[in-house]
Amino acid sequence: MSLLTRTAVRELMDRHGLSPSRALGQNFLCDPGTIDKIVRLSGVRPGDRVVEIGPGLGSLTLGLTDAGASVLAVEIDRYLIPALEEVVVGRDVRILHADAMAVDWQAELGGISEARQPEAGQSDRWSVVANLPYNVGTPLILEMLPSVPQLERYLVMVQAEVGERLAAEPGEKGCGIPSVITSFWGSATVVGSVSSQVFFPKPKVESVLVKLERRREPMVDASFDRLMALVRAGFGQRRKMIRRSLAAFLTSDQIESAGIDPTKRAEALDLVEWGKLANV
Ligand code: SAM
Repeated sequence: MSLLTRTAVRELMDRHGLSPSRALGQNFLCDPGTIDKIVRLSGVRPGDRVVEIGPGLGSLTLGLTDAGASVLAVEIDRYLIPALEEVVVGRDVRILHADAMAVDWQAELGGISEARQPEAGQSDRWSVVANLPYNVGTPLILEMLPSVPQLERYLVMVQAEVGERLAAEPGEKGCGIPSVITSFWGSATVVGSVSSQVFFPKPKVESVLVKLERRREPMVDASFDRLMALVRAGFGQRRKMIRRSLAAFLTSDQIESAGIDPTKRAEALDLVEWGKLANV
């Protein structure tokens, strides 16, 4: 089957008696040029293994398999699955009917050196390529990045402001809990924008494409849990100086002993400084 156009998406939905669910963030891609662009920016090569979250009707899944990827497609909406199966029939796609927030990724992907080894012709690289549902996009990334080391590269489409928050460096404008998490584990860059015109139905928000690379080792040598407890407290009261917002964890003297000015606010701290505080 060739890449899905607007006519093809509407025809498929009519024939399967489907209507898009707003609650599940269903805005289906229906522009072959945009699908090509996403696949190209993802850098997926023949034999790569890709997790696609929310394949919907398979618009992007077709592009990914055309590029030679083997796709694990995780879709929550059981009503879409017959249409998706029809679209990807005969391709290297495993459909998992599940809520991506509740998937046991270790069981699905296998440990890095454990049981589920790549089959002949597959590479050992896993990536995520997804047009994420707007309601779970941020929590999904922030949950998966720390806990699923097999997933080394992500190319995700998210709402424009979510993308900017993910890509902001700690200490930069727009930074917050998401940017600290992404920079702890890797780096995030906005690599393109996508017009609302290329979806059916059209979303009210603009979208961007974010590329995330996960490091094998975190950027700073500190406990992630300890650092996150401080980051949450700091950004929970972002207008306050850290000597107040972090008072439950550290005294002013301890903050100073880490070489950090206790009158700073959370948004002014960079990752190295968060790491120093976590190590006090
Ligand atoms: N990838 C398709 C495309 O680009 O046309 C569909 C993208 S649509 C924005 C988001 C998809 O994610 C929908 O198919 C929706 O049913 C699915 N979805 C929503 N929440 C989900 C969840 N928690 N786990 C898995 N899939 C989910």
